[in-house]
Amino acid sequence: MKLGPELRLAILEKVGIYSARFSISEPRVLLTTREVLDAPRDMTAGRRTSAYKYYGVSYLQHNTIFINVRKIPNERILENTIVHELIHMRFRYMSHGRRFNRLVRRGLAGARFAPYRRRASRRGKQ
Ligand SMILES: [Zn+2]
Repeated sequence: MKLGPELRLAILEKVGIYSARFSISEPRVLLTTREVLDAPRDMTAGRRTSAYKYYGVSYLQHNTIFINVRKIPNERILENTIVHELIHMRFRYMSHGRRFNRLVRRGLAGARFAPYRRRASRRGKQ
């Protein structure tokens, strides 16, 4: 898709809406490979020059996602990619697979997810 100011705004709006539903803080959003290359190296380490290959990338430690608009062919895949990356931000330890895909589908269907909570460490144990 071709990234213009309108599409940029529409994407940021969607990220805002889904972030609220998923109870996550709104990530920083990179929309071009140029923005990935311009980001601090420690932020994009490991997925810097390879980012162009993917529809999207999440940089969890830096609360940042990359949506590769130029590579994305249509609206449906755009929405899917946004939700996919935001599910990574909310379900940080979940790897790709059936459970992950199910969460993406639920997210696309309008599901809300409660905030992520670290499991309370048991008292007296490290
Ligand atoms: Zn993924």
